[in-house]
Amino acid sequence: MTDANRRFCKLAGICWHEIEFDPFGKADFPYCKLCNRENISWHWEYPNGHCKRVADDLPDFSDPIEVLRVMKEKLEPKDFAAFMHFISLKISYTSPHLVIEDFIEQFLDAHPGALRDRAIEWMEGKG
Ligand SMILES: [Zn+2]
Repeated sequence: MTDANRRFCKLAGICWHEIEFDPFGKADFPYCKLCNRENISWHWEYPNGHCKRVADDLPDFSDPIEVLRVMKEKLEPKDFAAFMHFISLKISYTSPHLVIEDFIEQFLDAHPGALRDRAIEWMEGKG
């Protein structure tokens, strides 16, 4: 799940903060080595026995509404329209009157992150 969120962030141009603290470095406080932000809260994690500072609240795009919000914000209107068209091709409509119900069933009820995964697929295919 984390890998998919990280991939989505990278493709959408959102920083997946990597916290670094070099006591002899340019920043006085732990900072993100990618975007240089200093005011990010973080915690310790111990992957493979190594201490690592990890940013708190790394974004989670399992909520399809968040995916739509980011895509609308980041994309040109024509690209957003193309993305919406791509999604619509992924929905198997049972009836024209059930578009919303089908969307909910396939992107909200299916599994968390279903729309994020389609967005990744679309952005990778586009690049
Ligand atoms: Zn960052």
